[in-house]
Amino acid sequence: MPDKPKVAFYWCASCGGCEEAVVDLAEDILKVVEAVDIVLWPVAMDFKKADVEARPDKSIAVAFINGAIRTSEQEEWVRMLRRKAQMVVSFGACANSGGIPALANQFKKEEILKYVYEDCPGVDNPSKTRPQLETVDQGRTVTLPEFRNMVRSLDEVIEVDYYLPGCPPTPKLISAAVGAILAGKLPPKGTVLSPDNSLCEECKRKDSKPADLALAEFKRPHQVHIDPEKCLLAQGLVCMGPATRAGCEARCPEGNMPCTGCFGPSSRVRDQGAKFISSVFSNIAPKEEKDIDAVLDGIPDPIGTFYRYGLSKCILRRKLN
Ligand code: SF4
Ligand code: SF4
Repeated sequence: MPDKPKVAFYWCASCGGCEEAVVDLAEDILKVVEAVDIVLWPVAMDFKKADVEARPDKSIAVAFINGAIRTSEQEEWVRMLRRKAQMVVSFGACANSGGIPALANQFKKEEILKYVYEDCPGVDNPSKTRPQLETVDQGRTVTLPEFRNMVRSLDEVIEVDYYLPGCPPTPKLISAAVGAILAGKLPPKGTVLSPDNSLCEECKRKDSKPADLALAEFKRPHQVHIDPEKCLLAQGLVCMGPATRAGCEARCPEGNMPCTGCFGPSSRVRDQGAKFISSVFSNIAPKEEKDIDAVLDGIPDPIGTFYRYGLSKCILRRKLN
């Protein structure tokens, strides 16, 4: 019997939700396990780095990598997996565009370390001790990975072949991607494995979205009794649907919550946050500057709202040290 294709799953700066998504394949995971040999999956099985390093280059058919890249250890792992794997799939919003971890790119590395080890109200550290890259303890040298200046997406560190969007990707998209890989029926390299149109196009509320939203106020979900039929944006809620790629079957609007943009942009959009700002803010009803400012005050955290999953891909300037 021929060898089954070897598959690796790896996580970097990740919450573990993308790993859960693989488990959420439910009985379909048995078909995956039957069809492939899993040679690396740290969240589920004990594999050693040396075992992966010892494998011949390109001997792994596909590596699914989730999470953003912040440390030198994550860089080493993904570079090694790039050498060992024929194909790398960037798995989920954090790998694709920095995700939640990339919101830290609003702050300098020193600001983050100072807050975490000195100023955070829950910290008791009078000597201001910080983790050191190298510590000698009883004759043993213990090392820690280096905390880099900023969070990067996977494709800012290694070449990526395909992208699975979402926070996390849905079981349906994962199953379809695994099926296409096993059947060798893949689209051109670089493709995001999800429909290339906007979420509004697959949202059941789309017919109630007016051409001119005439937004007089932005509200947060807990401040309003949400009409379950009507477009959320038309109700003054920040729904990222117009700037977000389809493929999740509009699950958040279906659950009466606005889209937060986790599928990233479609191929026609370079910067998801900028796209949302340009398409929606032109629909603000007031025309006087102070009245416009009052409407925008309804969005207390603009970066966390418009770039919640994509700050490492934002075209705005970033802090580098
Ligand atoms: S994409 Fe979402 S689910 Fe996946 S690791 Fe990042 S935060 Fe977690
Ligand atoms: S803005 Fe949101 S609620 Fe409205 S149609 Fe688009 S995805 Fe649906």
